[in-house]
Amino acid sequence: MGYVIFKNATLIDGNGGDPRYNVSVLVENNIIREVSECGISLQSADVIDCKGNTLMPGLVDGHMHLGLIEIEVVDIVRRNPIGLIAARMFRNMRELLEQGYTSARDTGGADAGFRLAMENGEAVGPRLRVSGPCIAQSGGHGDNRGPSEYRPYYEGNMGFRSRLADGVPEVLKACRETLREGADFIKIMACGGCASPTGGPNACQYTFDEMKAAVDVADNAGTYVAAHCYSDKSISRCTEAGILTIEHGNLLERPTAKLMAQKGTYLVPTQITYEMVLEHAKDSLSKFMYDKFIAVNDRGYEAIKIAMEEGVKIGGGSDLTGRNTKYASGAIAYQAKAQGAMNAIVSFTRVNAEIMGMSEQIGTIEEGKLADIILVNDDPLKNIDLFKNPKDNILVIMQDGKLYKKMI
Ligand SMILES: [Zn+2]
Repeated sequence: MGYVIFKNATLIDGNGGDPRYNVSVLVENNIIREVSECGISLQSADVIDCKGNTLMPGLVDGHMHLGLIEIEVVDIVRRNPIGLIAARMFRNMRELLEQGYTSARDTGGADAGFRLAMENGEAVGPRLRVSGPCIAQSGGHGDNRGPSEYRPYYEGNMGFRSRLADGVPEVLKACRETLREGADFIKIMACGGCASPTGGPNACQYTFDEMKAAVDVADNAGTYVAAHCYSDKSISRCTEAGILTIEHGNLLERPTAKLMAQKGTYLVPTQITYEMVLEHAKDSLSKFMYDKFIAVNDRGYEAIKIAMEEGVKIGGGSDLTGRNTKYASGAIAYQAKAQGAMNAIVSFTRVNAEIMGMSEQIGTIEEGKLADIILVNDDPLKNIDLFKNPKDNILVIMQDGKLYKKMI
């Protein structure tokens, strides 16, 4: 690989400080070796003249599901052959990288094989952290049975899937099995969801003891629990139980935000998923589901503002379904509506890297970090919407020192 120098760049390094101008960045193999405002020259290096365009860390998606291959998510594992689901999941991986996501966290569905395939160079996509199947309660978000079905739950082997566990012993076992299979962290469903056939975002799922059981298993293994939550009650219960990341969190209220800030709990909003379903796919939803999407969307922006004001650490995710995956890089633009552009950039770089457990390696452009770098063709602080069109607006994508895209 050798040396690459990015010169004449405006640098947004992911730490949230003001942009720096006329910066050069030296990459040696897959490592960022030097960041300098005095210019860098090295005979043997390939030079990329950034022409004043903005250099940023590769984007990190804090919440996505490779296995959400269809908008109607409930029966994906029963409707499709395993090989087809896998093929579409690998396509989703490639699409995420094409949109500038050099790393991503799969919060339910993908097994360790996807992470390994990327690490071994057998698949193209973001570096991954995966939870394997979500852990869900009977009748909870993730249980795909309708109210008049008495068949046993079928977990499936591939795609967006959940593992049902009720009571402390079953939760302990399900979490241990999931980690045995190679998951990097545990995801539980602690609340109803928008895309499930029964229940809704106001519900609360799992008891405190069940949540704590999941946290203990994860903690023993040196990892953590992420929880799907909408209702304020489920968020506060999860926070008390020691869960590290609250996914969605749309109905968050101020006292709970204070508690999250105190405990160091992360909020991972996913605003783009509601926006995209409402914009592109509302005809595919039942009225029951449509109403749930409308209800949580507006409230989600307010939750982000409350979290910011209370000092909660905020990541962010795309959480898109089906063909909407092609809009994933726009997530940062929707989140900026509540946070402002710079905060949204920090969420989708440095903070999501922390959530991935990779803050030492990725998330900022600093000496010693892995060379995950993108170059965009406009000032993202003035035009954060540029991320809605990554094909034209992301000029360079470098992942682990390798140039995946170069249009300059
Ligand atoms: Zn999700």
